[in-house]
Amino acid sequence: MVNLSKQLSITAENNPHKVAFIFESKKTSYMELEGAVRKFASQLEQLGYKKGDHIALVVGNSPYFVIGLYGALRMGLTVIPINPLYTPYELTYILKNGDIKAVITMDVLLEKFTAIADQLPKVSHYITCETSEKINLQKHPLSTKMQSFTSLLHSGDAEYIGPELDEDDIAIILYTSGTTGTPKGAMLTHKNLYSNARDVADYLTISGKDRVVAALPMFHVFCLTVSLNAPLMNGGTILVLPKFSPQDVFRVTKEHEATIFAGVPTMYNYLLQTAKGHVEDFSGIRLCISGGASMPVALLKEFEKTFHVQISEGYGLSEASPVTCFNPLDRPRKPGSIGTTILNVENRVVDEFGEELPVGEVGELVVRGPNVMKGYYKMPEETAVTLKDNWLYTGDMARMDDEGYFYIVDRKKDLILVGGYNVYPREVEEVLYSHPDISEVAVIGVPDPETGESVRSFVVTDNAALTERELVAYCSEQLAKYKVPSKIEFLEELPKNTTGKILRKSLREKVSK
Ligand code: AMP
Repeated sequence: MVNLSKQLSITAENNPHKVAFIFESKKTSYMELEGAVRKFASQLEQLGYKKGDHIALVVGNSPYFVIGLYGALRMGLTVIPINPLYTPYELTYILKNGDIKAVITMDVLLEKFTAIADQLPKVSHYITCETSEKINLQKHPLSTKMQSFTSLLHSGDAEYIGPELDEDDIAIILYTSGTTGTPKGAMLTHKNLYSNARDVADYLTISGKDRVVAALPMFHVFCLTVSLNAPLMNGGTILVLPKFSPQDVFRVTKEHEATIFAGVPTMYNYLLQTAKGHVEDFSGIRLCISGGASMPVALLKEFEKTFHVQISEGYGLSEASPVTCFNPLDRPRKPGSIGTTILNVENRVVDEFGEELPVGEVGELVVRGPNVMKGYYKMPEETAVTLKDNWLYTGDMARMDDEGYFYIVDRKKDLILVGGYNVYPREVEEVLYSHPDISEVAVIGVPDPETGESVRSFVVTDNAALTERELVAYCSEQLAKYKVPSKIEFLEELPKNTTGKILRKSLREKVSK
């Protein structure tokens, strides 16, 4: 079977002079990318690495990330992409748990590794990408283990081919986003990643004509599959942004005539708030893709009205490489829905015994298909709880309508129990989002001596005159009494992870303090 890395060779052979990606105005063709991948892979082999060894990729969005990822895959290594903003403590956990033998990182991040290197004797090399920061690496404490990414590239073998890879070999281990419990490493095979990128590209008709804005962090599977692997396999062009900012999105979109933008709902919110004077910049965009968290219906409608473009919301999780559902392009898209099942994947809503529920009933969403992970690395018990009879238990509560569209109700563990009644935070959040003065909302359950739990809401607004009482009254008009927040707090902004997902966990901690 073809894998991502082999696919890149094929795409490069068919489109040698097409632009694979643009970063800070510099264009890299498919031929150049393929050459760099071969050279980097050959040098990894020279350094003594063997097929199946684990390498961490702790690099921000840049050509280094793309070449590092595809180069390591070409050599048959297992890649562990990690958030560059992680603390030394968080890095140590993953590097140890993931049995990492080499780290690709950036010179500006070396300090973090210096602090923890003693605890990581298995790491033989820190392959360092130079940034514009001009950091002196000569007398660095890690200099004996350091290799320059650029020097490796210069001296690599442009004819390197690499070992044969099996479709069930582990290509990537993704430590899940950390919004819940201890991070677990989801093992994704070459087949998992290739099939999902292919199926997403086919479903959303991502082709060689597309120019995709990659503003999400590449270490996250949403960006990896949707904004990177899917366009690359079809000869599309990726517009790489080092990080998300509305101004940069508008700028590259206009300058390079982007056709697709992919983001999480908070990004759409920021784009909407800064839309003035930029609506025209988005005139070439044919498709906006949203995922990673639920897209509030009010935001979706406002965004579409302002930018005259359709948002297709989808759903996925690291363990499914990640996509399982998207709103289709050839049938109506339904606001509030994550759409229908993509090609080759099965989705079902089941009860607590794993029995499929009738249309309209709420249960846990389970997924089966070529995209579902092999299991969690070195965690057989967690794997057994999550993977049953080849079905992946997502931990998300959902329902399906009679046309096969799915709706995420909420995370199973975020359910709030008020005096025995179920309250899903999302339902309350949707109501608050529909208030014209509210830009961000999160709802959590807090302990309550009388009802067990009560509903607490956090909101962000520009209207200093808006009161808690007004908002409670607004909710009371639309929600049953037990769902109405007993307290609404005003915050300047909500805590988010680097992918832009709102962290309810941090709000719970804030309350318990
Ligand atoms: P991660 O593994 O970090 O990609 O997180 C996956 C989780 O994000 C899922 O289990 C869902 O809880 C959430 N998620 C992703 N897409 C959506 C969506 N469209 N609506 C609601 N939740 C979503």
